Amino acid sequence: MTDIEIKKKDNLVGLGLVSGGLDSLTACLLIKQQGFDVIGLNFKSPFCLCDKVLSHSDCGLNLFHEKLGIKIYSLSKGDDYLEIIRNPKFGYGKNLNPCIDCRIYILKKAKEFKKKIKADFIFTGEVLNQRPKSQHMKALNIVEKESGLEGKLLRPLSALQLKPTIYEERGLIDRSKLLGIKGRSRKVQLEVVRKQGLMDEYYACGGCLLTDKNFSNRMRDYLKFNKILKMEDIHILKYGRHFRFNDNKIIVGRNEIENNMLLQHKKPIDLIMEVQDVPGPITIIQDEFNEEILKYAASLTLRYSDLEESKGKVVYGKDYQNLSKEIFTEIENDEILKKYIL
Ligand code: SF4
Repeated sequence: MTDIEIKKKDNLVGLGLVSGGLDSLTACLLIKQQGFDVIGLNFKSPFCLCDKVLSHSDCGLNLFHEKLGIKIYSLSKGDDYLEIIRNPKFGYGKNLNPCIDCRIYILKKAKEFKKKIKADFIFTGEVLNQRPKSQHMKALNIVEKESGLEGKLLRPLSALQLKPTIYEERGLIDRSKLLGIKGRSRKVQLEVVRKQGLMDEYYACGGCLLTDKNFSNRMRDYLKFNKILKMEDIHILKYGRHFRFNDNKIIVGRNEIENNMLLQHKKPIDLIMEVQDVPGPITIIQDEFNEEILKYAASLTLRYSDLEESKGKVVYGKDYQNLSKEIFTEIENDEILKKYIL
């Protein structure tokens, strides 16, 4: 007899994958309304743009905790996730987003986590056909099978469109109280949460940088030039203008905030460059460098600074408090400079 059979129905604990958006909120609500305890699990990564959601007063994970009393745990996607981006078994969406593999990855992690916290079942806020490439019937079945959750992954929002899980078959979860939503409209979800006074309007969830065309270009370049992939390398891809020159990566800040972020995320081995005594960018030079690379980076740094002349002096070094080396050079024409932009 499995654990699930010997438990009484009202003792079951559901582990919900939560993004902070309307769908996962509605799924949690439906499970809570059946009298189960719910625990939320949120996955974080540098690709996640959900900070915006978290700061929104009427949306985000704060609602789960404050209004539904759901405890949220957070797990970070690890370096192994980058290997999935490099080589996804089920391919990419429109850009570098490996959505099917990504779902499998987080569900496998959720399965381990469920064991650890002794929850009884896993559910998600997925909706059949909401996303044409990753939430069609075939994709949902692949995700379920490959994550080792066949017959055990509850999707409360679309349950009536899908095969019953073992929990519904055994009468532990009341299928008649689940929904049969299909497609992109959020009308039904909004009705459900409005009835509970949880959310007035629908706000799109933060989003994922892997669906962004420009970021995907930078990410492709990172995958091409790095054998060992590390999540800590990803943050710097989000800031500045990026150039690939003779196998070297040069990043030029676009404003003060980006300059600070570049200094924060650079590695100790990277070079820092800036124009002497003129407001302008922080430039970061990654990897090995030589005279040619320094000259190109210096020219870029001058080009994006407030310098009015065509020649100027840049200083550089590895310690921002002590940029002791200098180059005097002139700004190349824009065509040459921008040739290497990513
Ligand atoms: S959009 Fe990003 S986070 Fe969402 S499933 Fe696709 S790859 Fe994963």
